[in-house]
Amino acid sequence: MITVSSLSKEFNHTEVLKNIDLQVNASEIVVLLGPSGSGKSTLLRCLNGLEELSGGRFEVNGIGVDAAAPRRTRTAAYREIRKHTGMVFQQFNLYPHKTALGNVIESLLTVKKMPREQAVPVGRELLKRVGLAEKEDAYPSRLSGGQQQRVAIARALAMDPAVMLFDEPTSALDPELVGEVLGVMRGLARDGMTMLVVTHEMKFAREVADKIVFMADGAIVEEAAPDVFFEQPQHERTKKFLRQIE
Ligand code: ADP
Ligand code: MG
Repeated sequence: MITVSSLSKEFNHTEVLKNIDLQVNASEIVVLLGPSGSGKSTLLRCLNGLEELSGGRFEVNGIGVDAAAPRRTRTAAYREIRKHTGMVFQQFNLYPHKTALGNVIESLLTVKKMPREQAVPVGRELLKRVGLAEKEDAYPSRLSGGQQQRVAIARALAMDPAVMLFDEPTSALDPELVGEVLGVMRGLARDGMTMLVVTHEMKFAREVADKIVFMADGAIVEEAAPDVFFEQPQHERTKKFLRQIE
């Protein structure tokens, strides 16, 4: 579903992603771990065109992006990729003047040009899926952080994505609200969603991931099944990271 080959990214002549190779198969949950500044967000942002890559290539759901291709070709590919990719960020970024339901159906109305009476039942179903059926009329300011993030997940699901990208979706939440968001993500995993997840929730990583990918200094240092990764880390950098988060 996602294949990344020799991807690199520079900011002002500094290479922040170096020769990244990564694969996420259909229905797989891959968790990306690594210290702050290691390039996790930049990698996710490259995959849906929020950042341009400097070198290499990748494919999402069969749509290819190559750093060597003309910009016009890449722009068209990014547009296509965004239709098949849902992204959830640390900050929920909901429209404050729209209700929960309004937020969820916005892309159906504007991107898919779906008539409202058709979009509303889809939106209600999505709110039900994230456990917020009874909150459809609530505005974001009346929702807890955990509820807002669940609305953001429902909104991302509205486009019926083939892949979901999560960038620290629980990092802005009070500890007692983390579980409800992880619960929704576990549900998506059970339903067979393909997911690439940046998180610091080690219990979630261990229980839900099919594969852990560890990054440091813009490079992939190690990747392994969760049991192997946590029990028998191979590289010194990985061991140091795991000691620090204990
Ligand atoms: P992580 O998500 O793992 O914490 P990031 O992908 O956010 O790491 O950042 C990787 C590196 O790229 C960091 O050194 C960061 O300062 C740098 N960086 C990220 N975004 C930009 C940008 N827009 N301009 C310049 N440098 C950036
Ligand atoms: Mg980040």
